[in-house]
Amino acid sequence: MAGEPQADCLFCKIVAGDVPATVVRESQRIIAFRDINPQAPTHVLVIPKAHYADAASLAAAEPQLAAEVLAEAGAVAEDENIVPSETGPGSGYRIVFNTGAGAGQTVFHAHAHVLGGRGLNWPPG
Ligand code: 5GP
Ligand code: ZN
Repeated sequence: MAGEPQADCLFCKIVAGDVPATVVRESQRIIAFRDINPQAPTHVLVIPKAHYADAASLAAAEPQLAAEVLAEAGAVAEDENIVPSETGPGSGYRIVFNTGAGAGQTVFHAHAHVLGGRGLNWPPG
């Protein structure tokens, strides 16, 4: 059934507490934890506890939950004292949903990367 935990999914294991993670925020339906291989001073992954393969599948099945992921991503940035209204390197942040292996997705449980704390180039390459 859509959203059910998958036995072979790393992030479902983190949700279940079977794989440890440094959790920074948790609500009833969402968990946010630090990326094990950070690409910026702030690099947090925000995931729905329910299993969906990617962000688009999540949004199609549960749009309200997708909105909660986005809101939590903003809350993570606020917790990390990243202030997008300021100027200069480190003042903004980026929310990224890699979708598909060709775009760098390696874990097929929907997750938002929240990256910040340094200057971020655009386009990312
Ligand atoms: P993707 O490449 O799918 O967009 O992002 C997956 C992210 O999960 C990567 O940035 C990777 O560093 C992170 N990651 C992989 N394994 C683990 C783990 O066991 N714990 C944590 N906290 N992050 C992980
Ligand atoms: Zn999963």
